[in-house]
Amino acid sequence: MSRRFLVTGGAGYVGSHLVAALRDRGDTAVVLDNLSIGHHQAVPDDVQLIEADLGDAAAVDAVLAQGPWDAVFHFAALSQVGESMREPLRYLMENAGNGIRLVDACVRHGVGRFVLSSTAALFDATGDASIPADAPIDPQSAYGESKWIIERALHWASQVHGMRHACLRYFNAAGADPQGRLGEDHRPETHLMPLAIDAALGRRPPLTVFGSDYPTRDGTCVRDYIHVTDLAAAHLLAFDAMVEGDVYWNLGNGAGYSVMEVLLAVERVSGRPVPHRVSERRSGDAASLVASAEPALKAGWQPKYAGLDDIVRTAFLWRQAHPTGYDN
Ligand code: UDP
Repeated sequence: MSRRFLVTGGAGYVGSHLVAALRDRGDTAVVLDNLSIGHHQAVPDDVQLIEADLGDAAAVDAVLAQGPWDAVFHFAALSQVGESMREPLRYLMENAGNGIRLVDACVRHGVGRFVLSSTAALFDATGDASIPADAPIDPQSAYGESKWIIERALHWASQVHGMRHACLRYFNAAGADPQGRLGEDHRPETHLMPLAIDAALGRRPPLTVFGSDYPTRDGTCVRDYIHVTDLAAAHLLAFDAMVEGDVYWNLGNGAGYSVMEVLLAVERVSGRPVPHRVSERRSGDAASLVASAEPALKAGWQPKYAGLDDIVRTAFLWRQAHPTGYDN
């Protein structure tokens, strides 16, 4: 049976890959996006795109009134840790404020299930141990805090109003649609993998490695890179799992790679060196973030692109084919 979903931020990086997954299985997705970060070109022609800002309460109400919706997937957000440490209140207003308003509108319009694009930045991790979903919450950045506030709003919306939720804490989303339809195109780009690939391709200046004095095996930060298509698949699974109750999943491969190890992977895949230099730490960065994805795996989630080189390869092929991103 075909279902109908609202996807906020469906023109963005992870959101557009979810829209592709919904569409591939015959579901209807409607995208709500202000296109401030997302790309018109990332939304297929046969998918309805409503261009509106989540801060526009009347517009959001009007969209939700076009239900019924089987679920709302909420991706639309500012997502840069570093930026959030320069403009913390903007992150709290735009991510948390707009997020709470969206949750409220969903409750008023009788939405039964809400899936939140959340983050590993909820956790403060220092050791190498992998982080389960019930680990202590201690955001080290205003970005992480803003997502935590939405998670709490969802908790109360569930307790009091019975709207089910899935909070999916992504570790480091990376890679691109293996069919080459979609990729990663942030402006400005701040993420390690696309910057390293572009540095290797000679399209950007040498990569700056933020800090080499962390308590990790080579001194650079360790992250758990998870393929964006595997993340999209986890959303579909979470939608089903919510029948049983609210869902809190950490989503990663359970393997951490340092910044230097990612650079080596880009060199292997591209066959070119990644020019780089080491600088100071970036504010708000945790030393090591590696997921324990046990509950998602138990629910049947099986990442298909679990190897670092596999992830880098899809990202590399998309960047190579799209030298100027979605403008190509
Ligand atoms: N990083 C870096 N240089 C860059 C961008 C990122 O050294 O130009 C590091 C960053 O400090 C972090 C890791 O790469 O340890 C992943 O950062 P990214 O911004 O891709 O994702 P985040 O972990 O912030 O979600």
